Amino acid sequence: MTGEPQADCLFCKIVAKEVPATVVRESETTLAFRDINPQAPTHVLVIPKVHHPDAASLAAAEPAIAADVLREAGEVAVQEGLDSYRTVFNTGSGAGQTVFHAHAHVLGGRGLQWPPG
Ligand code: C5P
Repeated sequence: MTGEPQADCLFCKIVAKEVPATVVRESETTLAFRDINPQAPTHVLVIPKVHHPDAASLAAAEPAIAADVLREAGEVAVQEGLDSYRTVFNTGSGAGQTVFHAHAHVLGGRGLQWPPG
């Protein structure tokens, strides 16, 4: 069922504390932790605790929690002292999505080019 924890989902395992992560923020509905393979001095992932495969699916099913993810991404930037930062939602393997549990990348601490690769 949508929203339910998935046994084969890495980020559901992080939410359940079955897989370790360096958590920087937690709310009732979200978890924020440092990316294991950082692409910038600050690279934090903000995930909903509920399972949805991507950001659009989350927003369609649970819009209030999608808003929580966006708000927490901003709070991560404040907490990390970032004046400028980028929020990325990769959707689909062709766009680089490798974990099919919705997540926002929060990247900052260096100059970021546009367009992204
Ligand atoms: O957008 P994408 O699906 O590729 O993002 C998944 C991210 O999860 C990657 O940046 C990867 O480094 C990160 N990751 C992590 N901890 C893990 C496994 C993956 O931070 N244990």
